[in-house]
Amino acid sequence: MLRIKLILILFLLSFAGKFTYADDHNLKDRLRTHVKILTSDSLQGRGLGTTGAEKARDYIVEQFQDAGIQPLGEDYLQNFSFRQNLAWIPAINIVGMVEGSDPLLKDEYILIGAHYDHLGYDIRNDEKRIFSGADDNASGVAAIIELGRFFAQNPGLLGRNLLIVAFDAEESGLIGSKHFVENSPVPIENIKLMFSFDMVGMYETNKGLHLRGMASLDQGDELAAGVAQRHEINLRQTGENIERRTDTQPFGSVGIPAVHVYTGQKSPYHKPEDQYHLLDYDGMVTIHLFMEDFLKVLSHESELRQSASLIASVLKESTFVGRRPAAGFLLNTGTGFHRYPDEFFQGKTLFNVSGGFYFQIPLSQILGLQLDALYDFNGSQIAGGNFRRHSLTFPLNIQFGTPGLQGQDIRLFLFSGPYYRLTFAGTIAGEALDFDNDFNIDEWGYTIGVGLSVFRVYMGYTSRRAVTNLLQNDEMKILDSNGYFSIGYRF
Ligand SMILES: [Zn+2]
Repeated sequence: MLRIKLILILFLLSFAGKFTYADDHNLKDRLRTHVKILTSDSLQGRGLGTTGAEKARDYIVEQFQDAGIQPLGEDYLQNFSFRQNLAWIPAINIVGMVEGSDPLLKDEYILIGAHYDHLGYDIRNDEKRIFSGADDNASGVAAIIELGRFFAQNPGLLGRNLLIVAFDAEESGLIGSKHFVENSPVPIENIKLMFSFDMVGMYETNKGLHLRGMASLDQGDELAAGVAQRHEINLRQTGENIERRTDTQPFGSVGIPAVHVYTGQKSPYHKPEDQYHLLDYDGMVTIHLFMEDFLKVLSHESELRQSASLIASVLKESTFVGRRPAAGFLLNTGTGFHRYPDEFFQGKTLFNVSGGFYFQIPLSQILGLQLDALYDFNGSQIAGGNFRRHSLTFPLNIQFGTPGLQGQDIRLFLFSGPYYRLTFAGTIAGEALDFDNDFNIDEWGYTIGVGLSVFRVYMGYTSRRAVTNLLQNDEMKILDSNGYFSIGYRF
């Protein structure tokens, strides 16, 4: 009896084993078929806005349907267009979903994405060269279709919902994923984690799988390592840094942990030689089985939190919008007069003007440094005529202001600091100034003011007062004073 039981168990075990094998075998076939079809010549390298891209899209939609992946709206398509030089280019993301089963997590999503566009073709020496883009990124598209199929065919395995997105226009600058983030069909803050599968067909050559940015999810590296232990998979680059050259970037920039699933730059990158037959389909099965398990685990985690460094980087980016070092033109117009601090009178005002360049360096969210280099025509009406001089003025100011209203490049600030003025010519009542005997060439003083910058335009009011004497002779003290309205334009 025992013996029969044992034989039965052995029989069942071998059957189970065979069954898994057969399943893996089918998986490998399906992955390979996706890549083969997406790289076939009739798709002409899936160039943006071409009929080849349209054929790729039709295939992916058909596969989503066949897999049981649900559309979010009426169909799977997210249409948009973007400007490239003078033309508007139409583009389409393909978006599907598999619902999770945990009632507590029913509003939350994990996204798996892969861009399906590639470089199209070119013509060299009268010969058409098709960039079929097998590793980049038919491999990633095949991966998300099959992961979507697995979860759609095994309902109840997922806690959170899974979004499956084939992005368009990645090669033109991550435009599909940017559009998705800005126009997400689900509340963007409910997407707790995203994976971009971009070039996953070189596992063996790469001797492992990169999960770049895994630690942008709090505890992400630990969770990945735990699952990797159950699979014979070698995880290589993980860590906190979110890859900026794939669809992870737009997600990371709004604070969503984002992971580049990647087997390295091992294929003939962006060359016509990146072809179907070079890919490692056994490796793609290995990655699939690992990700299947990992997504299951992640979808049930009670909370998916951003890492502290991701939160910090998003804060920094949003408050530094437009606050990189900047330079521009500046024009000040107003009046000036001479003060005689030891007398009962002072000079009358005269039109003053100065103009030149400014340079700004942000020091923190609220502090900045500004240096101006100005040609300065200033003076005053005095007893016996007008005093006029030509100078170069260099104010160096500390700015203290708002971090940028609502993440926009709109700032209000106060500023103050010393200036140096070098006078090179001038007249008093029509006679040339005598710098050898009467007047100082150098002048020091201070500036205080208030400014408002709205995108590229700067407006402000500046008051500038000398502390050093206009005259060489200290028997009489004359101090210059100016008030200006300023307008500026950032380059
Ligand atoms: Zn790519």
